[in-house]
Amino acid sequence: MIQEEVISLFKKTGALLEGHFLYTSGRHGKQFLQAARVLQYPQHAEQLCRALAERFADDQIDLVCGPATGGIVLAYEVARCLGCRAAYTEKDEDGNMVLRRGFLLRAGERVLVVEDITTTGGSVKKSIRHLQSRGAEVVGVGVLIDRSGGEAQFGCRLEPLARIAMESYQPENCPLCAAGVPLMDADLITVQQGS
Ligand code: ZN
Repeated sequence: MIQEEVISLFKKTGALLEGHFLYTSGRHGKQFLQAARVLQYPQHAEQLCRALAERFADDQIDLVCGPATGGIVLAYEVARCLGCRAAYTEKDEDGNMVLRRGFLLRAGERVLVVEDITTTGGSVKKSIRHLQSRGAEVVGVGVLIDRSGGEAQFGCRLEPLARIAMESYQPENCPLCAAGVPLMDADLITVQQGS
């Protein structure tokens, strides 16, 4: 899948919206990204995950692991394409991202880490730290969309299906606020997918 196809699929399903939004950081911006909206369609999840899996088809991956919650579906579907195991990391009491639930991981196993949207890459970095502490060899990171502007670096191969530059502004410097455009509530915008 080329970048344009990925972006178009995100737009078609409302996973990428254009407008005037308040981000969790408190900043404002023109785009809204929510990968769950595209992944709610199993056929799209399969297509995207197959494209990610193809990037690592020759890497003898033993385990695909994603940070919860965004990485759970991705890890499962990419692992299905690669014919290997899937697991996910989740927060522990200290804020680390760790494997729980008795997920199997043998020392020396080759692990692919996947995430839907990379913003700062914090959860992926924590997951890598944990996996390496367990003796895993982290082969690479596969993401649907890298919106970090190149800032997300993981010390291993990074394969995004698409890259998006998302500008954000402090509310007092927001050009949309200045133009009187009302803030939109992304949760209230549901998109009926055209076929
Ligand atoms: Zn604004």
